[in-house]
Formats: sequence, C-alpha cells, structure tokens
Amino acid sequence: MNLDQLPVETLGITEEKREELARLGIISIEDLLTYFPFRYDDFRLSDLARAENDERVTIQGVVVRQPSLRWYGKKKSRLAVKVQVEDQVIQVIWFNQFYLKKKIRLGETIAVSGRWNEKRKEVTVDRTFLTEMDRQKYLGRFEPIYSITRTLKMKWLRQLIHNAFVKYGAQIQEILPETYVKRYRLLPRAQAMYYLHFPKGKKEYHQARRRMVYEELFIYECKLMWLKKKHQHAHEGIRHSFAASKIEALISNLPFSLTDAQQRVIQEILHDLKAPVQMNRLLQGDVGSGKTVVAAVALYANFLSGYQGALMVPTEILADQHAKSLESLLSAYGIRLVVLTGSMKSKARREALSQIESGEADIVVGTHALIQEPVTFHRLGLIITDEQHRFGVKQRAALREKGLHPDVLCMTATPIPRTLAITVFGEMDISTIDELPEGRQSVHTYWTKKDLWPRVIDYLRKECEKGFQAYVICPLIEESEKIDLQNAVEIYEQLTTACAPLRVGLLHGKMSAEEKEEVMKLFTQNTIQILVSTTVVEVGVNVPNATMMVIYDADRFGLAQLHQLRGRVGRGVHQSTCVLIANPKSEIGIERMRIMVESNDGFEISRRDLQLRGPGDFLGIKQSGLPDFKIADLSSDVKILEIARLDAMEWVNQIEATRLTEKYNPLIALLEESTMVHSLD
Ligand code: ADP
Ligand code: MG
Repeated sequence: MNLDQLPVETLGITEEKREELARLGIISIEDLLTYFPFRYDDFRLSDLARAENDERVTIQGVVVRQPSLRWYGKKKSRLAVKVQVEDQVIQVIWFNQFYLKKKIRLGETIAVSGRWNEKRKEVTVDRTFLTEMDRQKYLGRFEPIYSITRTLKMKWLRQLIHNAFVKYGAQIQEILPETYVKRYRLLPRAQAMYYLHFPKGKKEYHQARRRMVYEELFIYECKLMWLKKKHQHAHEGIRHSFAASKIEALISNLPFSLTDAQQRVIQEILHDLKAPVQMNRLLQGDVGSGKTVVAAVALYANFLSGYQGALMVPTEILADQHAKSLESLLSAYGIRLVVLTGSMKSKARREALSQIESGEADIVVGTHALIQEPVTFHRLGLIITDEQHRFGVKQRAALREKGLHPDVLCMTATPIPRTLAITVFGEMDISTIDELPEGRQSVHTYWTKKDLWPRVIDYLRKECEKGFQAYVICPLIEESEKIDLQNAVEIYEQLTTACAPLRVGLLHGKMSAEEKEEVMKLFTQNTIQILVSTTVVEVGVNVPNATMMVIYDADRFGLAQLHQLRGRVGRGVHQSTCVLIANPKSEIGIERMRIMVESNDGFEISRRDLQLRGPGDFLGIKQSGLPDFKIADLSSDVKILEIARLDAMEWVNQIEATRLTEKYNPLIALLEESTMVHSLD
C-alpha cells in the first residue's frame, strides 16, 4: 500500500489528535514523514578551534572581565563581555539586551549560542543560558523544531514521527530515477527522510536536505513539463506561414542593426509562430533593451500569414505611444493600425470596433478595453501584452478566447530571476534579451537625504537651463493618497517658483485621460521642461531629451519600480542622472538605495531584490502562484533547481519517447494524477 494512501490513524491516535494533525495538512503517513522541521536547535558545545567563520556556535565559559555597555541613541545598545573558553579568551556580544549587564558577574560560568566571527574571536549572541538549570536543560541538544499548533506538543509529534518510521520505514520507496540518484550520489529516500527528522549531525543533515530538495524540485519540474506537453497536445495552435525574406527586409530597413539578443529572441518567436502548437512565451528584457521592435517583427510575421494581431498595454498613454512606434516601423508595409482605449468618444470607438470586426484593422493596440468590451476580432492570430504583470492570467485567457488559439507573447521589463521565472511561469517558454543596444550610457545614480533637496533643485534647474528636461516622481499610494497628492502639489509649486522661467508640469492619477495626455504632449514637445508626476506607469514613455530623474521618497518604491523609473532617462546620447531622495527607516530601505546606486542592470537588481525579500514577497504572495515547497527554498536552492529542471526535461522527453514500455513506475503514476491548477491558464 502506498504510504500516501495510508491514514495517520493507523498509528493509533485519538480523533482529537487526528483533527489537529489534519489542520497541519497531515492526513497520510506520507504527509507525516515529510512534515519536516523548519529548523533545528543545535546547542551542542562547539569546538572553536574548528568552527568556521560565520558558523553558529554554542560555547560555555567563565566571565573574565566586567561587562561593558555602550549606547547608540536611545534604543540601541551593545553589551560586551570577555569569556574564557578552554584555553582562549573570546568576546561575547549582545545587541539591545542592556538588562543582561546586571545579571552577568565576573567569575561566573555562562553559555551562549550565536554567530562566530573567527577573525575577531567574537560571538554575536542569539541565545543566552545564564542559569545552571537552563544550561542543564538545553546544552547538548540537537533537536528538530516543527511548526505546530498550540495544543500539539512538539515531543508528542516527534514521538509519532518516530513510531511512523518504526512501523512503515521499510515501505518507503525510492521515487527518483536511479540515474540521478547515482549521478549526484544522493542518499536513499528513506534514509534522507529519517535524517531530516533525527539528524546525527550537520553533515548528515546537509546530505539529507540536499537529497530531498532535489527530489522535490525534480518532481515539481517534471509535473510542469508533463502538463505542458498535455497542454500542447490539447491546444493546437495556428501554423503561421510567411516568407523569411520579407522579415529580413523589414529588419534590414530598420534605422539600427539589431543586437544579437534581439536576433535570437526573434528567431525563437518566429519558430513558435510557425509551429502548430500554441505559443505561450514570456519575453523578458531590461528597460530600453528594445522589446518594441521585437514585437513589431512578430506582428509583421503574423500579418504576413494573414492574421490580425493585438497589442495590449497597461495605460492609454502607452497605447498611443506604442501605436506610434509600430506605425513608424510598419506602415510602409501596408499595415493598418487601430487604437482602442476605454476613454475614446463613442463615435471613434464605434469606428475602431467596426474596423476590428471587418478586418480592416491589421493590428489593434489597446488597453484593457480590448478584453473588457464586446470586441469581435476578425482573425486573431497573435496577442502581445506589454508589462504582463499588469494583466492577470484570466485576462490573458479572456483575450485569447476571442480568437482561435492565437499565439501569445507576454513582454516584461521587470526581469524575474530566471529560476523563479521558470518555476512560476513554468508552463511558458522564456526568451530573454540580455544585452542593451550598443552605445547606451549607464545612468549615474546618487542617493541623498532629504536635507539636500534644495541643492537637488539647484542642480535640476541648471540641467534644464542647458536645454535638457527632467522628471520628478513622488509616490502616491491609496492609503495616504491625500497627503501624497498634497506633497506632489507642494513640490510642483516649489519647483515652479525656484526654476522660473522654466516650465513645470504636474501629472497625477486623479486627472482625466485627456488632461494627462495634454501634459504628456507638452512634455514631449519640450514646452514643459520639468514634469512632476505621482503616477509611475504614465511615465512609461520615451522622451530622449530628458536626462534627469529625481525620485522623492524613493524608499517607498520597490526596487523594480525604481529601476523602471530610472529607465526613463538615459535614452538619448547625453549622460543622464538619477537622484534618489530618501531617509529610509529600515535596513531594507537603506539596502535598496545602495543596490540602486551600485547597479544599472535590471537582472542583477532583481536577483538582489529576491535575496532581500524572499520569493513569496518578491512576487507578491497572492498572485504569485508560487508552490508551497516542503523543504526547497527558492532563494537559496537556485542551483539545485536549475539542475533538477534540466534533468526533468531530459527524463520527461525520454519517457515520451519510450512511451512506457516499463512496468509500474511510482513517479509516472504521480505525474499522471497531478493537477497543478496554478500553472495553467
Ligand atoms: P523597451 O525594451 O524598454 O520597451 P524600447 O523598445 O522602447 O525598449 O527601445 C528603446 C529605444 O531603443 C527605442 O528608441 C528603440 O528605437 C531603440 N532601439 C531598439 N533596438 C535597438 C538597437 N538594436 N539599436 C539601437 N537602438 C535600438
Ligand atoms: Mg517597452
């Protein structure tokens, strides 16, 4: 019998306990055996001579010098004590635990756990054992800590898991293909599971964890591939057909030559267009990497094949701007373009709708209106969304349903670290533009505190007096909308006075679409030199003469947004500057400012953002579709994920090829019954 069909009741527990376990998601024996500890308390005394730098250690020793306490401001303190541990004297440090000073006396024995700094011979404490009783109770322990409900006792759970191993341990089956177990010298499944609950030591723990992380990620990736294959079989796509020479002609007529990365992703996309399966591709590329022209080529190929194309963007200003860029790239080829947005006057809209329906329009550029309104497409063959974060899975699906299995391309300038991308968007193929067009200048970025704001204004004025333009962005969030708007207006007035006769414009989300458009137009024409804006997306525009980006209260923006905003400058030939004005209150806020100053690379920034925040927060837990892994941690197990993915690909393809001549295989059984709703539209 499979352990995942064997209920925990078989271990002889009360109904009450069964319910409590169920609340933790533990129903079967398999659930119980894979309910791994989330950490371990290791209070075994360490041998400092062997301890590595930054390792957690537990030491016991005699206090040989009076403790000394230092204060930093009102709340922060540092307490230091010299302790003799065997034959060496080390320094023990507590932060913000000033009250311990009175309790620690010269000549007494104490024990602590914490991080070991080898060079400074110093331990930064996170657990303190002062009393004899505490030391007896804790020292020497190496115990798994489980996440439990208040009424379940840790000891009881541990015992139960132990019983489960005694009774069923022999039935734990190897699930990984032997090839991979051998290739990476992985511990057998049963042993790894046992070590995770009852580790003998750090080495065994690490081996066990490595094995289970690999297993979890390998199976996860197998499921993704399996489903993707099924999905592709089920959704036959359009077989686009077009002359390669015409595409080449378009490319060679561009005012610039494409980067290698652009060439590569174009080939990937064209390949998908020609294939009979439905394209479902994510195109990632940093701000300014030239995604628009890639979209244009794809739309052209789609047009040549006799289909209508749609480009969906988050805002009306962007819709107009994209329509203009596409127009300039494609109108010479007889392509007719129509814009459809929510705020269009009814006559214009009726006209657009009828052109879409009749097929007079070859390409439709629009906002959400494209899917919200009763739009009837003529022959929809390709949908491209820009900034796919702004469109939910459902919306993309809704648009797709308007046509007959159109190919789908989602473009995003918020690069997600590859490993996360392939996990979350596992069912999508990914193309990445990983280089910028030649000759791009990187933007110089500075971070200053608010007290230097007057000097920033000075600098701003001088820059604009030279004939350049500038953005000043102020955050506006719903919770503090009123105050935020007030701030923006204040800054606008301040700049209007300080920078006269230069002209300053104000753009905020409360304005009507027409008002916004008017301000943007004035800025594009350089009638306005300084644009104060609260709305981030509205500035997703291309004004190459703008060389300065000032972001007020920058710490209130996320890293992705900051990088995105910064990408609005540095679009021309002139050196551009970005100034972040912020007095961040948290460590993370400070770190974000540093990252911005240090890096201009969107991928690097998103990697560090991921480290800073963890994957759930990085993607926004709710819509992230991130799987709930039992043991794998996507921010630290990136290498294993990459390997597991390749192996899974290899394995699933091979299974496909041999088409199951083999006998029962537990992994295939698992894949066959898997439903991973989150990854499918
Ligand atoms: P993004 O990827 O941010 O959408 P865009 O498509 O708006 O970037 O491109 C930014 C600018 O770079 C545009 O003015 C575009 O014409 C230009 N551009 C795109 N590709 C190249 C290239 N290969 N060489 C030079 N300039 C390019
Ligand atoms: Mg773009």
